[in-house]
Amino acid sequence: MPHPPHQSLKVAAVPKPRVPARAEDGPWHAEAVCRRDEAGLFFAPSKEPTAARLSREEAAKRVCARCPVMVACREHALLQPEPYGVWGGLTAAERRVVLARMRRRSAELRQAPAAGPVAAAG
Ligand code: SF4
Repeated sequence: MPHPPHQSLKVAAVPKPRVPARAEDGPWHAEAVCRRDEAGLFFAPSKEPTAARLSREEAAKRVCARCPVMVACREHALLQPEPYGVWGGLTAAERRVVLARMRRRSAELRQAPAAGPVAAAG
């Protein structure tokens, strides 16, 4: 996000200082509410216990739920794809599931026989 704190974190997957918005960032970045939150909420520290991770991710999702650019953020995270952190209200694991479904659907569409002419109604 312009990242919100995110892009600077995706490689190491550990909280780092926020980075300022850059001119090349998309317009949605400027609206990201997570800039005002701690980056550590969106990215797991190393060796985070499961219960703590679940709690942190739920808290991050609550921030995303009130973010005006959630859809754009989610699309960005899926397209990249962003391997770590909560983006657009989805955890990394949830994004992997979505991406797997998208790949399956795409494969199904490629294998589907070509549609014949559509009959005129009436
Ligand atoms: S949807 Fe969540 S992660 Fe994305 S910009 Fe908004 S608050 Fe940040």
